Amino acid sequence: MREEIEYMIMHEETAETEIYYHSLGEDIRGYLSGKKVKDILALDQEIKPCTCGGRAELHEYEGMGDGDYDIICKECGRTMSRSPYDVDLHTWDEVLPACIRDWNAGKSADDIKAMNEAEHERVTITTDDLTWKELHPNNMLGNSLEGYYSLVFRKREDGIYCCKWTIFFQKEEIAPMGTAEDSPIEAYILFMERIFKVTGPMAYPELTKESLRDWDSEDTFVSCGVNSYGDFIRSYKTLEEAKIGAAARCGWQGLNRDTMLKEEEYRGKTAEEVMAEEQ
Ligand SMILES: [Zn+2]
Repeated sequence: MREEIEYMIMHEETAETEIYYHSLGEDIRGYLSGKKVKDILALDQEIKPCTCGGRAELHEYEGMGDGDYDIICKECGRTMSRSPYDVDLHTWDEVLPACIRDWNAGKSADDIKAMNEAEHERVTITTDDLTWKELHPNNMLGNSLEGYYSLVFRKREDGIYCCKWTIFFQKEEIAPMGTAEDSPIEAYILFMERIFKVTGPMAYPELTKESLRDWDSEDTFVSCGVNSYGDFIRSYKTLEEAKIGAAARCGWQGLNRDTMLKEEEYRGKTAEEVMAEEQ
């Protein structure tokens, strides 16, 4: 990154651009996080003058590693911004093109906010969109039911992204580390795991009587994998609340009701097969 900036300064190639990069440490003109000089120049050309005829500036603000974009007219002050509030409508790489497209269409930030709120409402994943499967340790029927899991997929350019939810039944202990078969459930614990590139079948194997000896497999979903829950999210009093909690947290990586794969689109297929299919 540093070399790129020095190159730009040396060649003054981006001296005429109106792109500003604000990070916690430095403010630089003509620089955009993660972009090459030629991409910055191309982007600058893409941004049309404001509806008032004024010159537009693109600003990127960076903090905690996440970019946030504003386009501002120096004449009338019209602004356009795409903030992390719509991460479930766009992946990070889609945010900037969306921002420029809306600016060029003459929209205002308020138009976008209103539109996003309606769009957000329409595409937000709800409990009806999630399918829950029984969680038995090692995927073996002989082991008791310990909770439920749900897999939500999105096809991206670089592979299949999966958000895996697990609701684990916390049963009352009769002794430290000991629960009885009929111990009442005292809490429903929600866990989340993000898998950025799924390989192999897009489901765990069916429940079996005997242990499937598939732990050496390269596939993402192997029998013993149901035992890995990912990160602790929250503890709930009821199963219903835990399911609502999971659905409400799906929005990330542009995962929403429009982009999530329907079960009939991937049932019985591998991630590789789904990737090879036309959109
Ligand atoms: Zn203007």
